[in-house]
Formats: sequence, C-alpha cells, structure tokens
Amino acid sequence: MATSTYELRCRECGKAWPSQPRNYCEDCFSPLEVTYDYDSLRKTVSHELFASRAPNIWRYRELLPLPAGYQPSLPVGYTPLVSAPRLGEKIGSRRLCIKNDAVCLPTLSFKDRVVAVALANARSFGFDTVACSSTGNLANSVAAQAAREGFKAWIFIPSDLEPAKILGTQVFGAELVRINGSYDHVNRLCSQIADEHRWGFVNVNLRPYYSEGSKTVGYEIAEQLGWRLPDNIVVPMAGGSLISKIKKAFDELVLLGLVDPKPVKFFGAQASGCSPISTAVKQYSTEIEPQRPKTIARSLAIGNPADGPYAIKAITKSGGWSEDVSDTEVVESIQLLAKSEGIFTETAGGVTVGVARKLIHQDRILPDETTVLCITGNGLKTTDVLSDAYQAETPIAPKLVEFEAYLASKVGEFGRVAGETPALPLATKSTVLAAEA
Ligand SMILES: *Cc1c(COP(=O)(O)O)cnc(C)c1O
Ligand SMILES: [Zn+2]
Repeated sequence: MATSTYELRCRECGKAWPSQPRNYCEDCFSPLEVTYDYDSLRKTVSHELFASRAPNIWRYRELLPLPAGYQPSLPVGYTPLVSAPRLGEKIGSRRLCIKNDAVCLPTLSFKDRVVAVALANARSFGFDTVACSSTGNLANSVAAQAAREGFKAWIFIPSDLEPAKILGTQVFGAELVRINGSYDHVNRLCSQIADEHRWGFVNVNLRPYYSEGSKTVGYEIAEQLGWRLPDNIVVPMAGGSLISKIKKAFDELVLLGLVDPKPVKFFGAQASGCSPISTAVKQYSTEIEPQRPKTIARSLAIGNPADGPYAIKAITKSGGWSEDVSDTEVVESIQLLAKSEGIFTETAGGVTVGVARKLIHQDRILPDETTVLCITGNGLKTTDVLSDAYQAETPIAPKLVEFEAYLASKVGEFGRVAGETPALPLATKSTVLAAEA
C-alpha cells in the first residue's frame, strides 16, 4: 500500500526524531507529533484519489503514519454525517449536523480510529503485546483490534467503569487490570509500566500515532460536506487530543489545497464534574488546573488532560469557546438526541449536545451557521445512567381486548396518546448531507 514519508517532531523545541515508539522529546520532555512532507503530498493527493477508495479511514492513508506496505484488515470509520433538523429546531440551529461515531466500527466509538493507526505501527516496532490506560472506550477498542490482529492485550482501567465497558473488554480475551483510583492514577502507573515492559501502550509510547487517527474525523467531515469546512464544530474533550487533531486535519486540508481556507470555530465540551479544560477557557487561562473527576460522563473523566494546553489553544485561537454541563443535563441531552434524531449516544454525546444547546443560547453559535456536533460513542455502553428514567410497563395478555383497554388507559386529556408529540412541520430530511450541499 502506498504510504507517505513522515517523522516525529517536538511540539515545543521543533527537534525532529525518527519514527519510533516514543511520545516525548528527550531534549525538552515536550510531546512529540507526527509530521509529513507536505510539499510532496501536495503533488500526490486529490479529491479523486480519496474518492476512488473504499469508505473507511484508510482512504486518507497518505495523511496517516503507516509503515511501508501496511495492509489494514478492518474497514474502520467513515461514519455518517447526517443533518439534524429536529434537534436543530429544538436547540436553535437551522444548519445542524451530526458526525455519528456512535456507529464507528468495530467497537462503536471514535477510539476505533486511534487504535487502528496505533496498532498499524505496533507490529513494525516489534511489539507482540499492546496495552492502554482507558476511561472505557479505548479499552474496548484495543481489546477488540488486538484480538483481530493477533496481539496480546493488557488493559488498565479505573475500577468504577460502566459494566458494559468492562464486559466489552473482557469478551475479547484481554487481560483487564482494575485500579482503585482515577484515570489519572491509572495513566501514571501505565507510564511506569511502559518503561519496564516492552509493550506498545497505544496512548503512552505510541501516542503520536494514536493521535493521528483522530484526524480522520476531520477529513471525513470535510469530504462529507462536499470538501468544505463547517463554520463551527463542537467536540467532547477528555485528554483534549480529538479536538486538537480535528484542527490539525482541517489545517492540513487547507495546506494541501483540498479545501478553501475558512475560519472554523472550535468549541470544546466537558462535564461540569470534570472540566479542567473548559474551566481554563472560561477563565481566559492557558494553564490547566487538574481536577478530581466526579461525573457520570466517565469516558471524559480525565482530571489532568495531556493535550489540555493544545486544546485551549485550538479553541481560543479559533474564536471558539468551551462550556460544561451537569450530569442531569447530560441525561436530558441523551434523551433529546435519541427522541429527535434516532441516535442513541453515550454520556459523552450527552455532554456535546448539552454544551451545544448552551452555546447557541449564549449566541456563540448562530442559527444559520453550519455547525457539526461530534457524537463519539454509543448509548448501549452507558445504559446504567438511564436506569431511573423509564419504568417497565406491566405486561398484558396477547388479546385484542386487552390491548384496546391498555390503549384507552394511555389516552390523555388532549385525546392523544400520552408521550406522543404532535408531528413537526419540517422540510424534507436528507440523510446524507453532501446531497444537500
Ligand atoms: C476518549 C473519548 C473522547 C475524548 O477524547 P480525547 O481525545 O481524549 O479528548 C470523547 N468521546 C468519547 C466517547 C471518548 O471515549
Ligand atoms: Zn523538544
């Protein structure tokens, strides 16, 4: 498979390092990032080249750090970008769309993208064991893709994760280590283990490769908008990597002449119970004050975010903003998205929708601007947060008279079935946004 030339570069001192499993600069201890030969890429990549390939992240292979000859074995990504007119009507946006990574394959979160790119490099670096510290979704994805690619997997998680995320790791045969502590404790332990064992930690020593996988969200959004950039994008933040890499993706597309330059406002979303990045933005600070997380949005519960300063920079330089919402608003927003668009997201998506509503209310996002909400994970993994929201109905006998009696008991004073809302007068809803553009 044709790939491109790339190397690692220190994000602070700029020193170049050959491709290797390392996430920080030995000279100044700042994070390393993958960089490409953009002059030669400008001559090779085009809309037509990408469009000629199957709809998955590998269609952008020249813009990813892949070892020479790498043959992917899974069609990861290329999730739908759908218009969201019913949700838009409820929260006040006429050009709202959803990037739906709740249906990303193979494990129903955007983490499948980052793991695919990290594991592509793990083999060529000589690892036979891969590992991660995780708030849940990364655990699921590393376990599944390690099974698929024939790696042994060691997964480290805080002990209080959702049952579905624990089971959804164990089922793939991974070694699961539950730690009594927060994600930040788990992550610190993993850095120490990575120094002792020759394991490929996808978010520690393989982190530069992992982060490049996040860029594919940005490439796909631009392509699905007809090779255009949106006015606004709302992104949930844990470590702050996804939001900074979507920015990198948009910048690269402009640099390569694949989209017209355009100011895109980046908006970061967090839960109020773990909001180190949004708190810094709201205080006009460039520094992260670590927090002790307390929120149902466990996938975002990182109190000391590794890419926090880069996320702050991406947000503030773009003219965007960051907000956070309470756990109650998270649950309400999950239900609102499900009822209005038929998309069942996990708590992180509730954070994104709740924050988007807040930002529109604050007039930071205007109704006629094209606004993309990144829905990053699937609601079937966090059903525990809805356990009090719905009662189990009393079953009835399989008889028509019983059903008619049941129906009569449900008809409310306005002569309609309780819980049914009147149909909204809406324009026709196209599912693929590109068709509208
Ligand atoms: C990990 C995760 C995020 C945030 O990712 P970062 O790159 O760490 O900011 C968002 N949503 C979900 C569902 C996640 O699992
Ligand atoms: Zn350096």
